[in-house]
Amino acid sequence: MSKLKNKVVVITGASSGIGKACAIEFAKRGATVVLAARQLDVLRQLSKEINATHHVQTLALACDVTNQDDCEHLMQKTLDTFGSIDVLINNAGISMRALFHELDLEVIRKVMDINFWGTVYCTRFAINEIIKSKGSIVGVSSIAGYKGLPGRTGYSASKFAMQGFLESLRIENLKNGVHVLLACPGFTASNIRNVALAKDAQPQGESSMEEAKMMTPDEVARLIANAVEKRKRDLIITSLGKITVWLNKLFPSLADKLVYNHFTKEKDPLIK
Ligand code: NAD
Repeated sequence: MSKLKNKVVVITGASSGIGKACAIEFAKRGATVVLAARQLDVLRQLSKEINATHHVQTLALACDVTNQDDCEHLMQKTLDTFGSIDVLINNAGISMRALFHELDLEVIRKVMDINFWGTVYCTRFAINEIIKSKGSIVGVSSIAGYKGLPGRTGYSASKFAMQGFLESLRIENLKNGVHVLLACPGFTASNIRNVALAKDAQPQGESSMEEAKMMTPDEVARLIANAVEKRKRDLIITSLGKITVWLNKLFPSLADKLVYNHFTKEKDPLIK
């Protein structure tokens, strides 16, 4: 039987991609899932599908993670409904694609608000319950949280910030039985590159990469659920991700050049 059976799992950004796949995967393992995102109608539909297929309890709640009150309400409502919080998956996120010298600073502000502050707010309002339950806090980070990526200054900054924040929290709670997982998917087929902010802070509208060649969100969700069950501290999912992180520790200048070359191969590249 899965260790996640009957655990209360809150997932932000559950309306699409990795968050939606996590909702389904954790439900498959018998967890009670709380689905949070901005589009309540989409969440309600997903909630119905999960109920019908996996026969677990679900709750769909509207939450814009940049809004502190929404995040507080999300955790309070979860507690009022189910009595505890065992796992928080800070998944809601947005990306960007623009060179820093050309961009409207609003791009970085928006990305930090969602990826960093969204994580801080949700974690703050869940932490005392997670200390009580000796549960897990997951940050869905990125290889961009280990290595700066060109055209993604704000995105990399937000994921480095998320990782620093969660690492400090892990150490603060070392004796409290709280588990902190930093999960770093590699490129995963989702909506993230379609809605990534361009230099004018508007969604770029289409992906700059070959989505069909990427991992699926279902596979990423399965690995995240395994890592929560095993209470792992880090999950770096792809071989390219593992190589990037290690190469960057040992030979950072070489890693810079390889990353640069990789991003010259995007569709309509920002760097040549
Ligand atoms: P996605 O765009 O399909 O999903 C992002 C989710 O976050 C959506 O449900 C969206 O509605 C939600 N969201 C965005 N802004 C929000 C806000 N203000 N409040 C609440 N919800 C909000 O993308 P995805 O690829 O599934 O991304 C999920 C996470 O995975 C992100 O944190 C992303 O940085 C990370 N990630 C993705 C990839 C990838 O290649 N897809 C790689 C590494 C890390």
